[in-house]
Amino acid sequence: MKKIKAIGLVSGGLDSILAVEIMKEQDIDLLALHIINGFDQDTMRIRSNISLDEKKVFLDKKADMSKSLGIDVKIIDISEEFLEIVSSPGYGYGKNCNPCIDCKISFFTKARELMSGLGADFVFTGEVLGQRPMSQRKQTMDLIEQKSGLKGILLRPLSAGIMAETEIEKKGWVKREFLLDIQGRSRKRQMAMAADLGIIDYPAPAGGCILTDENYSRRLKDWFNHNAGKRLTLEDTVLLSVGRHFRLNDDVKIVVGRDESENGYIEKVCEEDWLAFAAELPGATVAVQGELEEKELKRAASVAARYSDAKEASGVEVIVRRMHDERILTVSPISGDELDRCRI
Ligand code: SF4
Repeated sequence: MKKIKAIGLVSGGLDSILAVEIMKEQDIDLLALHIINGFDQDTMRIRSNISLDEKKVFLDKKADMSKSLGIDVKIIDISEEFLEIVSSPGYGYGKNCNPCIDCKISFFTKARELMSGLGADFVFTGEVLGQRPMSQRKQTMDLIEQKSGLKGILLRPLSAGIMAETEIEKKGWVKREFLLDIQGRSRKRQMAMAADLGIIDYPAPAGGCILTDENYSRRLKDWFNHNAGKRLTLEDTVLLSVGRHFRLNDDVKIVVGRDESENGYIEKVCEEDWLAFAAELPGATVAVQGELEEKELKRAASVAARYSDAKEASGVEVIVRRMHDERILTVSPISGDELDRCRI
């Protein structure tokens, strides 16, 4: 007889690790599914580092997760389709630009779609009732379960003991006595369990989703506000995570690299924009995006002057270049106050 098989949706955080540990007590086959939506800090870092091979990094990540969970892990990348969700979430955003309800529905739907191909009978997650304000309230959890088509075949082992019995338990696929009754925001029980199990290396509870970050969300909102009718791309989202961002006016914004790696990324993805950097001096690469006139180009050059080794000088030579059009402007570094007024 075929053994019951479950797919565990895992983020890599402690709750999902513990959910897998609980399910290992059951006599069923397990497979972990890790979904990348493109907005976790790791993926942002990988994608903004032009010296990294993304495919290889993801393969290494899969191997690391499989090793730490002790079960096979499948990683799928839905970053492209997630752009639509983050641009226009049906259930809105949380405190920042985090569309958690739509995000969960998309992850759970993906898991359901993969079930038959992977020979799975149900899905489980590391969700805890009442832990997150937007997506882990009882009513919302029910909505996500229903919208993703997982009604009756979704188990939350950390909280199942205080939730209604699922079909999964009724059919005897899992034993209810092994399931926990954790609820709320305190993580004491999870920490104690981790200590008992000798689990010491796990990511911070927030999970590292950059859409919950206030600064990133402000930049993303600025992008939406100034790009009506334009489709957000993966490159846009990564560029928003890199460098310092300033808006010169409604049509023009600039991005300033903070180190060599960011300068390299900006030069690569903004190769069709104006770039400015101090001539013959160490300093930042400045990309200028939008429809601009000479005065904005000069302001961008003055930003490049400020972020160079000559920021105290009165006249700094700055190279401005777009494709094959290149010249040198001599400008004064922009003042700190003026720069602060433009900061996004
Ligand atoms: S925090 Fe980010 S990854 Fe987590 S559910 Fe919300 S949008 Fe999705």
